[in-house]
Amino acid sequence: MATTLLSQPNIAPTGALIDRYGRAITYLRVSVTDRCDFRCTYCMSEQMSFLPKKDVLSFEEIDTIVSAFVRRGVRKVRLTGGEPLVRRDIMDLVQTIGGHLGSGLEELTLTTNGSQLRRYAAGLAAAGVKRLNVSVDTLDAQNFAEITRRGRLAEVLDGIDAAAEAGLKIKINMVAMRGVNDAEIPAVLEWAHGRGFGLTLIEGMPLGEVGIDRVESYLPLRELRETLGQRYTLEPAAHRTGGPARYDFVKETNGLLGFITPMSHNFCESCNRVRLTATGQLYMCLGQDDMVDLRLALREGGPEALNAALDQAMQLKPKGHDFVLERGAPTVAVARHMSVTGG
Ligand code: SAM
Ligand code: SF4
Repeated sequence: MATTLLSQPNIAPTGALIDRYGRAITYLRVSVTDRCDFRCTYCMSEQMSFLPKKDVLSFEEIDTIVSAFVRRGVRKVRLTGGEPLVRRDIMDLVQTIGGHLGSGLEELTLTTNGSQLRRYAAGLAAAGVKRLNVSVDTLDAQNFAEITRRGRLAEVLDGIDAAAEAGLKIKINMVAMRGVNDAEIPAVLEWAHGRGFGLTLIEGMPLGEVGIDRVESYLPLRELRETLGQRYTLEPAAHRTGGPARYDFVKETNGLLGFITPMSHNFCESCNRVRLTATGQLYMCLGQDDMVDLRLALREGGPEALNAALDQAMQLKPKGHDFVLERGAPTVAVARHMSVTGG
């Protein structure tokens, strides 16, 4: 449900951001662009239409919004997309947001496909970024080309080398897909842990029409964990990053393996995040349509209206998502692709 800012005018504009269910919002994800140099099959269709460039927030506007969130208690910001590193002059934004570190903001991170990391890794580290999530769904060059439709594995691996050389801590994200890359999970696990990287497996979510059969490739991670447990010793770990992942320590490879299970088991009750699109709409849940238009608030009402819009958002944050992926059910939960809301 989209609600206009004007429908709730009498909202106090101060204090921590606490939603109706008592959850404190301390984490903001910012999609700086919905565009990307890849077209991963589970994320985008081959022929994507992108948000009009004229509607995209300027860096100044993004910084104004991020600053408002930090004043209200947000401690962690993740830049994402689309591919954040394909937005022009992106390092200007990274440096500006990095400037808030130590003044309320505790962590600035990025999620990237890694294609531009050779160029940007050192600059990211210099701007105060300490950790990156890099998506690698396979280590097989041919399969990589097929899944990403555009990407070259060698470039991504070189980018990851550059990030490691720059001292960035790396976590690999892998969307686990039956019949697509499930056979390669042990190889990716051993490679990632061998290099000192964490690995997090993600269940594919029905976000946006992409033209593939999501039901066929859906792999419940509970089932996968059982299979992996026959090969590795998985010890449940207390490790938490404030997100929905649950972790095992893998004894043989000496590293952490995360599972993000939005389909088979969500952790919405402890959700601490909201997501800003490149055009300034704030979504309170990846899997619901509740939205507050921060761009409208900022452009028409200035900082006070923006602040009030944050309170309105807290009233609209839904209890959770309700993804269903089975034959006969609607094939998409929400029309927005992950690249729009910000992964
Ligand atoms: N382009 C960057 C990347 O690929 O890491 C950042 C944006 S991408 C949308 C963020 C994460 O979302 C990636 O790890 C990607 O694999 C994941 N993702 C995209 N679409 C998804 C979907 N439908 N279900 C589950 N994960 C998805
Ligand atoms: Fe691009 Fe990331 Fe989506 Fe792949 S998952 S198409 S790299 S935004």
